[in-house]
Amino acid sequence: MKVFNTLTNQKENFEVLREGKVSMYVCGPTVYDHAHIGNTRPMIVFDVLRRLLEYRGYEVTYVSNYTDVDDKIIRKAKQEGKSEAEIANTYIAAYEKVRQDLNLKTPTYTPRVTETMPAIIAFIASLVENGSAYVVDGDVYFRVSSVKDYGCLSGIRIEELIEGASERVDGAEKKESPLDFALWKKTDEGIQWDSPWSKGRPGWHTECVVMINQLFEDGRIDIHGGGQDLKFPHHENEIAQSMAYHQHKIANYWMHNQMININNEKMSKSLGNVKWAKDLVAELGVNVYKWLMLSTHYRNPLNFTDDVVNNVKKEVAKVERAISQSALQLQIRRLALDAKPDRAVVDHLAEVLEDDLNTSNGLTSLLDEVKVLNTLLRQKEMDEQALETHFASLQAMAAIFGFAFSYRRLSEEEITLYTQWQALKQAKNFEKADELRSELAKRGIL
Ligand SMILES: [Zn+2]
Repeated sequence: MKVFNTLTNQKENFEVLREGKVSMYVCGPTVYDHAHIGNTRPMIVFDVLRRLLEYRGYEVTYVSNYTDVDDKIIRKAKQEGKSEAEIANTYIAAYEKVRQDLNLKTPTYTPRVTETMPAIIAFIASLVENGSAYVVDGDVYFRVSSVKDYGCLSGIRIEELIEGASERVDGAEKKESPLDFALWKKTDEGIQWDSPWSKGRPGWHTECVVMINQLFEDGRIDIHGGGQDLKFPHHENEIAQSMAYHQHKIANYWMHNQMININNEKMSKSLGNVKWAKDLVAELGVNVYKWLMLSTHYRNPLNFTDDVVNNVKKEVAKVERAISQSALQLQIRRLALDAKPDRAVVDHLAEVLEDDLNTSNGLTSLLDEVKVLNTLLRQKEMDEQALETHFASLQAMAAIFGFAFSYRRLSEEEITLYTQWQALKQAKNFEKADELRSELAKRGIL
């Protein structure tokens, strides 16, 4: 497999750290609101990557956190007269519902900040001890000058950052350098924890490093994923902390997905064009939703327009039709619905996807397989074995994308009804045949 590594800005051959295993970490949401479609893009993209790796036989550990401590959560809790935990739990449940509705695999672990606090405090303490962090008035800051290579991920230049920062007045005069970032903030507002430095809360950039450290040997993983907007400062700061603690950059491969635009405009609450995942999945259905998200390569911005949605609906309908018609024929002919797929056909899709997760080309492969099925369905003398195999292949391909195509299971009575209808047609008993036909139509079989 080749992946575009944002750390080196090039496509690289994918090689695992631990034989037969892949470790993935995808930064999760701050849980103070429902998921919008932008939040679900990394969820869908990295779920396909996981499924692809599992298809190739890797044992994948997939971790995605919930940031359940944050100023936005505290603000929302105040507004609604609830506790931070109530707010966080509400939206974590909402995210899990969306994950389920989108037929995404459950992550192996979904750590939360509130459940990681002792490890976060211990981690910060060791950075203070080794000189890469310092304490000022109960706050703890990371000393960026203590690590070399700061900016290696985002390509941001330190001199520019310092210049930019000096023009701002942001009350950060406590810090030794404007580049330094908070690991711990002293506060007497909202949810807070005891620490050696003050009653307070951790900064956002530390949790992911600590969670990875807790779950993976040497705090090191194969793939770190997330949205493009997290590259700087969040991921840059994750790398800085890992360099200070482990002398490595946490992940061998960094992958970033691009953002979503609505009718060529940035999606934002202030523009009022935010598309909520729960509404859109209810409106479009899981397959159209996911196809839409996978139709553009993850490193390109995805433009959401009515035209795009309508085209996707047509593509998905083609697949649905081929699946339901094949399933019908297989059942009427008492053939297997779970035959062995054609390994070469499914492998071909895997190879297409192994080019930096090229899902748009992958969907074309899926449609090619639909064409094969349609040709088989049109045959006068049907090649039944080929129908079985290609039906199974299409299902296996759909499973790598995590689509949820379904088909109607016929009862014995319905199979008999269908067979009788065909016999009547052949005998040119059209009146009786029409009766059965409308019965079959009523049941949604035709
Ligand atoms: Zn993170």
